[in-house]
Amino acid sequence: MDCLFCKIAAKEIPSTIVYEDDLCLAFDDIAPQAPVHSLVIPKKHIATSNDITEGDEQLMGHLMRVASEVAKLKGIDQSGFRTVINCNADSGQLVFHIHLHVLGGRKMSWPPG
Ligand code: 5GP
Ligand code: ZN
Repeated sequence: MDCLFCKIAAKEIPSTIVYEDDLCLAFDDIAPQAPVHSLVIPKKHIATSNDITEGDEQLMGHLMRVASEVAKLKGIDQSGFRTVINCNADSGQLVFHIHLHVLGGRKMSWPPG
């Protein structure tokens, strides 16, 4: 499948890896929007939030826990961080392999733009 994040998960495309296990990979975003900006992806291809099935529930929970682990590894777990999943056009999703953005290291505004 011609998917950028499948290729990053397979290490066909290099990335700065922050965390890896059998189910997922976390790596730094190529265009960081905050001092810390990492992405957590499942190794399994899931295109968008709309494509999460009942069988993916445990995996998605795992990704949430890894996002917090990434925040801890980056030293922003206590200062705070934001976890974001964009879905489809209005959210600005650009890569159609589901990913959790982990953003922090600065004060963020709400509501998001
Ligand atoms: P989306 O807009 O789909 O939620 O976020 C996609 C993210 O992937 C963007 O923040 C973008 O900077 C990041 N990105 C796109 N291509 C690459 C790449 O080749 N390597 C890395 N590390 N990040 C990428
Ligand atoms: Zn993929």
